[in-house]
Amino acid sequence: MHNNYIAGEWVASKDAVENRNPSDITDLIGHYAQATTAQLDTAIDAAASAQKIWQATGLEARQTALMKIGNTLIERADELGELLSREEGKPRGEGRGEVYRAGQFFTYYAAEVLRQIGDNADSVRAGIEIDVRRDPVGVVAVISPWNFPTATAVWKIAPALAFGNAVIWKPANLVPASAVALTEIIADAGLPAGLFNLVMGAGSTIGDALVSHPAIKAITFTGSVETGRRIAAAAIGNMPRMQMEMGSKNALVVMDDADIDLAVACAANGAFGGTGQKCTASSRLIVHDAVHDEFVEKLVAATKAMAVGHALEEGTQIGPVVSEGQLAANLDYMDIARKEGGEVLCGGDRLTLAHEGYYMAPAVIAGTGNGWRINREEMFAPIACVIRAGSYDEALAISNDTDFGLTAGIMTRSLARAGDFRRRAETGVVMVNLPTAGTDYHVPFGGRGDSSYGPREQGQYAVEFFTSAKTAYISTGPAS
Ligand code: NAP
Repeated sequence: MHNNYIAGEWVASKDAVENRNPSDITDLIGHYAQATTAQLDTAIDAAASAQKIWQATGLEARQTALMKIGNTLIERADELGELLSREEGKPRGEGRGEVYRAGQFFTYYAAEVLRQIGDNADSVRAGIEIDVRRDPVGVVAVISPWNFPTATAVWKIAPALAFGNAVIWKPANLVPASAVALTEIIADAGLPAGLFNLVMGAGSTIGDALVSHPAIKAITFTGSVETGRRIAAAAIGNMPRMQMEMGSKNALVVMDDADIDLAVACAANGAFGGTGQKCTASSRLIVHDAVHDEFVEKLVAATKAMAVGHALEEGTQIGPVVSEGQLAANLDYMDIARKEGGEVLCGGDRLTLAHEGYYMAPAVIAGTGNGWRINREEMFAPIACVIRAGSYDEALAISNDTDFGLTAGIMTRSLARAGDFRRRAETGVVMVNLPTAGTDYHVPFGGRGDSSYGPREQGQYAVEFFTSAKTAYISTGPAS
């Protein structure tokens, strides 16, 4: 049994969940304790006390602790990436890359600890100076999804700690092994006992208790829009800060002047990387009439050539879907697509492979309408829907016609069009001649519309959410 980490101790529970490998459901990864609400209360009390110690801890000690965590993640990326791929199902290379990137988040924020953050100004009144500095907000609840078990959690945990806060982390219950592995590394970094706590359990129970707790001063969440709304409603009575990164329905526009082979490579990578289970996935491919048929033909050929298999096997490009429930939802969307009149050009079926797992052939569906459910709802599946457009203006309008607004991309050789798209795309992230997925860690990340709520994550922008500005007025005394 793997336990929760509360007030600096590994603590057992009566209840546990089983964690199985989606590439091979006979592979039992382990049993993971489910935190009780009493344990959650203990964690939050300990965090509130430890946060005061951490806030008063010297900057170099804070920086050293974060650097140690980051370097350990980077050194152990192969081993921890394998564990991540084993429980989540992304190919081994993607799992390793995620852990390595998580390490970079920590080393980046270790450096941010030492950045002087604050401003000085003269008052409009004579003889008064102003000093603006940033204080931590207190105890932060971190709630993360299963699709990037380590990275999404770390891009919240690292800045929270860097800026002097305490953390209570509730990971998604589908991926507890990566959570325990990361917690072991954090527990070894010399932080004050209770500063960082892991509480595993279902969102509907322990997650709900966490976000409604009055001692929680900030909630940073990544997950679906539906859960984001539920959390906001549960928490609002206490008025904590809230930062929510949610779903999307990202468009990749392929123009008549695009390099078609590059467009196909970007579309396949963006639509099927991580088995399509990315908030930045290219699920709507908006293709200009003049190149539509060539693009679709090449995309179908590229999709059929992609190797679906066990996440840890050599050569696998697309791993399994994360769970039986997610696979069933994907197959339902394939039925919906057919009923809506989509032309399924390849894939979309459950696959039976040597290992019993949740495998699905990646699908390309042509002739789809932007108003259809498959183009309005986030499927989180290896399903790419092609929408035809007669002009650039029409393609841009379709791209912006969505409730979401995380990323949008354009494939074009025209600098003028690329520039226009960057200006007019109603998203938080824009990609030019790149897949819609794949972002850096030193710059802001987030969306518009239903995709995001609250201040941006990542880079220096994270300071806004994890600190509170304090403006001090200092009289310099009467002029002599
Ligand atoms: P989810 O079902 O919304 O769950 C996300 C997290 O919220 C999980 O830890 C979940 O716990 C927890 N949760 C559920 N109900 C809760 C409640 N009532 N109170 C508190 N916590 C609760 O999302 P998911 O299926 O894990 O992840 C997929 C979603 O994440 C997609 O919509 C995707 O677009 C989004 N995502 C967005 C970004 C981004 O940066 N924009 C990045 C990655 C993923 P349990 O799972 O244990 O129930």
